Amino acid sequence: MSAATDLTGDNSVARARIAIVGSGFAGLGMAIRLKRARIDDFVILERAADVGGTWRDNSYPGCACDVESHLYSFSFAPNPSWSRRFAPQAEIQAYLQRCAERFAIIPHIRFGHDVTGARWDDESHEWVVQTTRGVIRASSLVLGNGPLSDPIIPALPGLAGFEGETFHSAAWRHDIDLTGRDVAVIGTGASAIQFVPHIQRRARQLHLFQRTAPWVIPRHDRPVSPTWQRAYRVLPALQRVARALIYARHELFLLLFRHPRWMKRVEDVARRGLRKWIRDPERRARMTPNYTMGCKRLLLSDEYLPAVAQPNVSVITAPLREVRADSVVDADGIAHRADVIIFGTGFRPTDPPLAPCIAGRDGRTLAEHWRGSPQAYLGTMVAGFPNLFILLGPNTGLGHSSVVFMIEAQIEQVMLVLRELARRGVSAIEPSAEAQAGFVAEVERRMRGTVWVAGHCMSWYLDRTGRNSSLWPDFTWRFRRRLQRVVRGDYVTVRSPAADVG
Ligand code: NAP
Repeated sequence: MSAATDLTGDNSVARARIAIVGSGFAGLGMAIRLKRARIDDFVILERAADVGGTWRDNSYPGCACDVESHLYSFSFAPNPSWSRRFAPQAEIQAYLQRCAERFAIIPHIRFGHDVTGARWDDESHEWVVQTTRGVIRASSLVLGNGPLSDPIIPALPGLAGFEGETFHSAAWRHDIDLTGRDVAVIGTGASAIQFVPHIQRRARQLHLFQRTAPWVIPRHDRPVSPTWQRAYRVLPALQRVARALIYARHELFLLLFRHPRWMKRVEDVARRGLRKWIRDPERRARMTPNYTMGCKRLLLSDEYLPAVAQPNVSVITAPLREVRADSVVDADGIAHRADVIIFGTGFRPTDPPLAPCIAGRDGRTLAEHWRGSPQAYLGTMVAGFPNLFILLGPNTGLGHSSVVFMIEAQIEQVMLVLRELARRGVSAIEPSAEAQAGFVAEVERRMRGTVWVAGHCMSWYLDRTGRNSSLWPDFTWRFRRRLQRVVRGDYVTVRSPAADVG
C-alpha cells in the first residue's frame, strides 16, 4: 500500500519507505529528487496547510530574500520571472508552490500533521514517527523542518499584563492596522531591518529596541526588467550564466569572512551609510557595532537606515527591563508607550525543538547526545540514529551564500546513502562515531580564525557551549564535493533482524 494514500485520518498507523518532515526548500527538494529517481513511496508531514516553510510563515511587510533569487532557488528549476534581484517573500512562496505542483509532490503531503516525536525501533528497523494526527512508520526519516522554523519570544517581566497586541515577525498579524499607533519593535536582526521601514511609514511612533547594533550595508535591490525576464525564458543558458556569476561572487565573499582584517574595508561602506543617514553623532555612535563585521549575520538593506533616521523613530539601546500594561520600560526606567509590541527576536537554531523528541538506537534523544552542541557527520547524519537525515543540519548554514545550494548537496548524499543501503542489502545505516568526530574536528579546523569565531560578538551561530555549530566555514563547492560520494568506511550498517529470520 502506498503511503501517499495510507495516512488518512486521526490515529491511523501508516507506512512509507521515507518520511520527510516539512515542505519548505529542504522537504520539497528532497521529495522532488526522490520523484526524479522514480521513488514514490514517501510522505511529507507538514504541520501547516500549505507548502513553503519559512517562506510561508514569514509574511511580514518587506520580507524578501537577501541572497539573489537566481541563486536562491533550485538549480533544476530556474525561474526566469523573478521580478527583482532579491525576490519578495510572496514570489518565493509562489515559486515553491509551483515546484510542488510541477513535480507532482502535493499528493504526497499530509497537511496538518505536526511531528511531535520519533523513535528508532530496533526490532523492525523503522522510524516510528508520532504526529498530531497519527503514527507513521518509515524506514528512513528526513528532517527538512529547518533551523529557523520555531520563533522565540523572550520571557520579559510583565509581558502577560500588556494590554495591547503582541506578535512575532514570523507570525505577522496582518489583521492589526499599525496606522497611527505606537509600536515597540524588539530586535534589529535580519527580519527587523526588513519590516521596520514598512511600519515606520504607518506608525505614529516607533520605539526600536536595539540590544546589539547590526552592521548594515546597501543591498542594491532593483527590478528585473521584462526584457531580461523574456531573455531568461528564451535563453535558459543566459540565466545559468547569471547564476554562475552570482555563485562565484558569493564564494569570493568567503575570503572576507576568513580574513577578518579584510572585513574592515566593508565596514567602511557601512560606516559611510551611518554617516549619511544618522546625522546625530550620539545616536550614530550607539548604532555603530563594536565587533567585526560578519561575526553576526551581515545585513543588507537600502531602506533601514533612512527609515531609522525619521523623526518618529527612537532607538533605545538601554536593555529591556519590563513590560507594563501600556509601555515597554528600559533599564534607565524610561517607559516607552506602546499599543503593539512586535518581536523581531529570531529563532534558536542551535536548540532545535525536535531534538529532545527524536530517540535513536540507544533510546536517548538527539538533544541528549548533543548536550547543547549539535554535531553530525557531513552535517547530515548522526551516529546512533540510523537512516536519519537532517537537511540543514549542524554546520551546514551559511553566512556568505545560498543555503539552497547546501540543501541540494545534502540531498545528493541522502540519495547515495539510500542506494548504499540497497547495495549492501541491509536495512539500517549510520555514520561511525569516529567518522562523525573526524568531520566535526575538520569543521573546527576550518572554522579557526574566521570572523564567525574570532569576531568578538555573541551570535545565534554559537551554541550553548560557545561552539559554532551552525555554519559551514568553507567554500560551498568543497562541501558539495565532499557529499558527492559515499565514503564507505565512514558508514556502519546493521542487518535487519527480519533478514536473519528469513
Ligand atoms: P536574529 O537575527 O536572531 O535577530 C534577533 C534580534 O532580536 C537581534 O537583534 C537580537 O539582539 C534581538 N533579541 C533577541 N532576543 C532579545 C531580547 N531578549 N532582548 C532584546 N533583544 C533581543 O533573528 P531574525 O532577524 O529573525 O533573523 C534570523 C535569521 O533568519 C537570520 O540570521 C537569517 O539567517 C534569516 N533571515 C533571512 C532573511 C533573508 O533575507 N534571507 C531575512 C530574515 C531572516 P542580539 O543581536 O543582541 O542578539
